[in-house]
Amino acid sequence: MKRWLLLVHGGAGELKPMSPEQERAYRQCLRHAVEAGAYLLQRGASSLDAVTAAVQVLEECGLFNAGRGSARTAEGTIEMDAAVMEGATRRAGAVAAVRTLRSPVMAARLVAEHSPHVLLVAQGAEAFAQAHGAELAPPGYFSSVAPSASPEDTVGAVALDSQGTLAAATSTGGTPRKLLGRVGDSPLIGAGTYADNRSCAVSTTGTGEYFIRTVAAYSVHARILWGNRTLEEAARETLEEVSLLGGAGGLIGIDREGNAVALCTTPGMYRALGTPDGRIYTALFRTEPWQES
Ligand code: ASP
Repeated sequence: MKRWLLLVHGGAGELKPMSPEQERAYRQCLRHAVEAGAYLLQRGASSLDAVTAAVQVLEECGLFNAGRGSARTAEGTIEMDAAVMEGATRRAGAVAAVRTLRSPVMAARLVAEHSPHVLLVAQGAEAFAQAHGAELAPPGYFSSVAPSASPEDTVGAVALDSQGTLAAATSTGGTPRKLLGRVGDSPLIGAGTYADNRSCAVSTTGTGEYFIRTVAAYSVHARILWGNRTLEEAARETLEEVSLLGGAGGLIGIDREGNAVALCTTPGMYRALGTPDGRIYTALFRTEPWQES
């Protein structure tokens, strides 16, 4: 059996009371995201392909604060951020404050693959992505779902592929009612997204300002590489540091050995795990064990 692993999140937060139908819808969307990535990994595709595909499903589904379901700024507009990184070469790409693109994570991928840069913003990012084939959001795309009422439903994915390469991707509409031009942690390499084959791949979610100030994703990597911590210890210590500053949120990570972690300091974090035996597990609440779904 090929050795690979895929973990996705749909944001950490309060997790408002949900009806059984709503809960099923969230789990289903997470499962679809894992299926998209697992399909690729099973066929020997790269972890970068898998995390991009998984995040695209979450952007498209409208239940999360990313892509179609993006939260609104203080002006009622949409400004989305996304990043991807792969751990063999530490190649990375990101976009911030994009308004018109259907898939910000795909735009981030285009930046990584077709530009000499890491981060492009606003109209420059949109023009670049379009010139490289990115799709614009069709009319009414963002208004086709109710604006997310939950502050923390960013999406992300981390994967280890059968070649032993790690990758991470994160996509978000940012914090609701944010100021125009505000950029969060998600598209900042080292803050919300990081991957290095020597240590781990990480995607974070939560009050981005705190994850920027603690350089959270890089901090997980650094604790493993130089601090001799396990992935779980490194993730816990990093989230403790975020909490000490007054922030809250969560993260998912996979290390080079194929260990996975999904931790949050909030009441819940939407998350799902795919394994090579074809099983998919989901969990929503903080202490909930993985449920096969
Ligand atoms: N971290 C994201 C941001 O600050 C928000 C989130 O995870 O919900 O933009």
